Amino acid sequence: MRKPIIAGNWKMYKTFDEAVEFVEAVQDKIPANDKVDAVICAPALYLPILVQIQADSELAIGAQNMHFENEGAFTGEVSPSQLASVGVDYVVLGHSERREMFNETDEAVNKKVRAALNHDIVPIICCGETLEEREAGQTTAKVSGQIRAALEGFTGEEVTHMVIAYEPIWAIGTGKTATADDANETCGAIRAVVNELYGSEVAEAVRIQYGGSVKPENIVELLSKEHIDGALVGGASLQPESYLKLLEAG
Ligand code: PEP
Repeated sequence: MRKPIIAGNWKMYKTFDEAVEFVEAVQDKIPANDKVDAVICAPALYLPILVQIQADSELAIGAQNMHFENEGAFTGEVSPSQLASVGVDYVVLGHSERREMFNETDEAVNKKVRAALNHDIVPIICCGETLEEREAGQTTAKVSGQIRAALEGFTGEEVTHMVIAYEPIWAIGTGKTATADDANETCGAIRAVVNELYGSEVAEAVRIQYGGSVKPENIVELLSKEHIDGALVGGASLQPESYLKLLEAG
């Protein structure tokens, strides 16, 4: 039985005061950690203070990106050791916005996954197809390729510490959600890749989220599907009320 994981991705939204207000509003209302893993992936600037505020709650704090090197002349970047030093538990890697707008490659994602595990940070590895790829029947090939590349060089045991997020690019921030059956089918295809690479025990253990216009109104159906173990949520994670509703579904 895989524990659902609901992760909010705030992207580049919220002022400092708004971020603190949000965490203060939700931290006592997070369901018990044995029921659902609740994560907020906040802008890097706010991570240390949010980690401190939620220290006694069931909420975990994640980053939205990081470099793969621990230190160096990489102006503007944040390193895995820096994230670990402030107590960050999760990091989103290979989000389509980073792949599309910041040239993040499969190779870089693979290095970042290694760096995250080296620092006991759980990587949330994103994959997903464009609308053109979906319409050309290339969805499975695209996400399978991204996942094979991200997992290259890892043991099965390591893979059980990762989270995979299937996010069709055409569904992110558009209000268009994949049908629960379509999302389940592609999450199942990802699980089949893990099964092929590592066997059924690892495939049954790894958690696969769906992301793309998830809201309180559609999350219950999505989570009812066999291969969907949680959600990566942008817009609907920005307000405490809707984030808490998403967690209730977990
Ligand atoms: C995301 O940011 O990963 C995402 C899925 O956004 P939204 O929920 O707004 O589509």
